Amino acid sequence: MTNAGANLKMASFAQEVMEVHKYLEALLVAAVFGITVFMLTSEVENPVVLHLYYVPVILTGFFRGAYHARLMSLFCILTATTVFLPAMYDASVEPTSLGPVFAFMLWGATLVLIAMLVGTLSDGWRSAMSELCVAHERDVLTDSLTDAANRRAFEYELNRRLAQWNRDQTPLYLVLLDIDHFKKFNDRYGHQAGDAVLKSVAKVLQQTVREVDLVARYGGEEFALVISGTEADDVKDIAERARSLIESSRFPHRGLMLRVTASLGVAQISNGEDITSLIQRSDAALYCSKEAGRNCIHFHDGTTCQRFGLGMATETVDSLNESSTPNSPDVYTDETTGLPAQKVFLEEFRRRTLETRRYSGDLAIAIVAIDGLMKDTDRDVRTQKVLLATISQLAASVLRETDMIARYDANCFSILFPTTSMEMALVPLKRLSRDASQYSNAHCPSLSFSVSIGVAEVLTAEPPGLILQRAELALAASIAAGGDSLHVHDGVDCNLVHVDGLVAK
Ligand code: GH3
Ligand code: MG
Ligand code: MG
Repeated sequence: MTNAGANLKMASFAQEVMEVHKYLEALLVAAVFGITVFMLTSEVENPVVLHLYYVPVILTGFFRGAYHARLMSLFCILTATTVFLPAMYDASVEPTSLGPVFAFMLWGATLVLIAMLVGTLSDGWRSAMSELCVAHERDVLTDSLTDAANRRAFEYELNRRLAQWNRDQTPLYLVLLDIDHFKKFNDRYGHQAGDAVLKSVAKVLQQTVREVDLVARYGGEEFALVISGTEADDVKDIAERARSLIESSRFPHRGLMLRVTASLGVAQISNGEDITSLIQRSDAALYCSKEAGRNCIHFHDGTTCQRFGLGMATETVDSLNESSTPNSPDVYTDETTGLPAQKVFLEEFRRRTLETRRYSGDLAIAIVAIDGLMKDTDRDVRTQKVLLATISQLAASVLRETDMIARYDANCFSILFPTTSMEMALVPLKRLSRDASQYSNAHCPSLSFSVSIGVAEVLTAEPPGLILQRAELALAASIAAGGDSLHVHDGVDCNLVHVDGLVAK
């Protein structure tokens, strides 16, 4: 029999014992009275019948513990005293003899001792049983790897909250979360690393939800959050927090700092809906997130799946974890220019987009490419490095302290302009465009270069992925126009911006 099976048997026996004692104590008190009345009416003179009192004391000790057993023994002594003591001093007994008194005292002391012995043993047994009950409950309702609730607890809780929704319309939401590319992760780093990640993800989820919400391991690398009694917007916030926390977490394993991402699907219960349908809709939303490239969230509104949050299509497990040793700074910093790397930029960009949406502010981004850098075979690698460093310095000199410039790609930089409209962002960008061509003309003719720039600003309720895409489209328009030009994407189209000192294209 498994541990859980043995625990189950013992715990249910203990439960039955607890039930019995509720009525037993009253019965035993009645029995003591019964014994006493019997002794009185049948005029029994043999003190051996006192031993009958052991029975209620032993039973009380067994079922009610030491305290109640002691009380019962005192009650027995008191009752017996009223009946037997006068009888012991009847005319047939020598009045001065202390023998019967000693015998009675010895009997009383034995009764108390038996009460304490049986009661203490029973107390120990019952506390062990109640520990077993707790352990059993844990075994039955908890996932042994992650310590999250297991599938059984999940179904129980979901049904309970469904009943609550049917009773008083307390809103109920189900969030399903699936770790992306987890099979590949296991194949590459081993099952132990996978297990460690599952444990950590469960912890991250516990930290993300409120205490009243349930985190359950739904399947292998799938988790479920059961949330109720709040607004849909709060649930979306919780889901997004979970997604971004998992994405930004590093899981230490054998000297590596590993990363994973997760896809999520959310659905809210609707009138007349059952659990199966709610799970199906959350699963459909999760499927949409997988289809959309993973590392994102979809909400099933009853008919369609709507994307929300700041998640962007995830990289593969390999590229996520490439050179991710604990001391390796190159994940965050570009070696050639010393600027933040693309990952850092994207994280900051997502954070800023969320902030901008919340507080209805402005946010613009630009992508700056050095024209023909990668195609130019005349320039050796060293010259290319000098170029990159030069252009990054030029860009830094025209930007404000609050702006952020990062290495975006092999020949691209990305610039983030927080709380800045597109119009305002164009001022330093035009200067950068001008400075780039003039720099090459005036100081170093052999290093002549120009830049192509694409700009976009955040429009209402637009995911960061789309904003980046629009900036990239604008950049592509500048490159297609022959380079050395600046285009903006206004949400519909790419438009050329004339830069003073440059030939309009
Ligand atoms: P997708 O992004 O589409 O979800 O791809 P995936 O690889 O995550 O999904 P798939 O269903 O193909 O594989 C799930 C993997 O999760 C397979 C299995 O090795 C792994 N897995 C499931 N349970 C456990 C577990 O308890 N420990 C470990 N280490 N891995 C597990
Ligand atoms: Mg799965
Ligand atoms: Mg998966």
